[in-house]
Amino acid sequence: LLADDGTATPTIFAEMSALAARTGAINLGQGFPDSDGPAAVLEAARDAIAAGFNQYPPGRGEPDLLAAIAEHQANRYGIRLDADRDILVTAGATEALAATILALVDGADDEIVVFEPFYDAYSALIALSGARLVPVPLRWPHFQPDLDELRAAVSDRTRLILVNDPHNPTGTVFADDVKREIVRLAHEHDALILTDEVYEHLVFDGPHKPIAALPGAFERTLTVSSAGKTFSVTGWKVGWISGPAEFVQAVLAVKQFLTYVSAGPFQPAVAVGLRLPESVFRGIRDTLRAGRDTIGAGLLEAGFDVAVPAGSYFTVADAAALGAVDAATFCRELPHRAGVVAIPLTAFATDEGRSRYRTLVRFAACKRPEVLSEASRRLAAAF
Ligand code: PMP
Ligand code: GLN
Repeated sequence: LLADDGTATPTIFAEMSALAARTGAINLGQGFPDSDGPAAVLEAARDAIAAGFNQYPPGRGEPDLLAAIAEHQANRYGIRLDADRDILVTAGATEALAATILALVDGADDEIVVFEPFYDAYSALIALSGARLVPVPLRWPHFQPDLDELRAAVSDRTRLILVNDPHNPTGTVFADDVKREIVRLAHEHDALILTDEVYEHLVFDGPHKPIAALPGAFERTLTVSSAGKTFSVTGWKVGWISGPAEFVQAVLAVKQFLTYVSAGPFQPAVAVGLRLPESVFRGIRDTLRAGRDTIGAGLLEAGFDVAVPAGSYFTVADAAALGAVDAATFCRELPHRAGVVAIPLTAFATDEGRSRYRTLVRFAACKRPEVLSEASRRLAAAF
């Protein structure tokens, strides 16, 4: 995690956001929205500060948020949770992932199966835990895992199968038979499933189908989500994890020494958000879908090949037809050439797997319509 000169290596997101700031380019790199979420959620945070929610919240989370998460999982997915035992509020999804991996993994003998390309924190957290990362490749353009490769990756050494659905960076929604096979393999090899579903409300042709709702899955699945993406408040860092009480208890045991608690006034505000009417969630999804379509059309017009995503903030495009041979170089030049910043998919891969994603680039669509139109115009004009 440290560079040769002893400084912390910036994440690809920090690096690319700095490049956007330096060049004045439109930032379609780091996945954060450029407008705030529902007014009712923002107002609820102001109200919570005024009402005195400014000291340490309870270690497991504000009771009203725990209740709202339990309602959300029951009403949407039919997953019944005990709000006092099966849920833990965390400092974003990141802390939920970190605390779970540190709590449940024993070290060098344990393996964690991960779908590649993967969100950058996964490999860093696995490295911190001392476990071994076992990748299962997702291939252009559908990015669904091959079931034989998945079966070959899972063994009795597998402690966790780490799923991300909808998937960052590809925008893939895992097929039903893939999810069923993950559950079957977890049973066969006595592994646990850690599923990162932060984009659960951004499945364009929904509904989202959580792994934990599949038959036989709940007893060995921990599900992670976050308010950041759904309510466009990525700076609030309110996440949560839910699953069988004994595992959540182990995660809490670690979490209490990572951050103890966080985001006091934002927790009741997120409870308000989770209880907003369905029309609000539909609006968030429809806006993102329109953004995906705008940037997708712009990329096609510019000459990229486009893998149309089924969910998430992201669209992956292949720049090979534009002469790119290395996505990282292409992305470093893109702000100068087109006034747009994007992320090379190679940043989400292992050394061994990187060549598979050599010419692929991730664009974030979570920006205002006029910003996406301008980015599309610039891309089409530049190539
Ligand atoms: N998981 C995935 C797949 C993500 O894309 C992100 C990025 N926002 C996170 C986790 C981290 O979420 P949070 O900001 O809530 O920690
Ligand atoms: N999840 C965001 C992305 O994939 C970035 C979050 C971060 O900067 N760590 O773009």
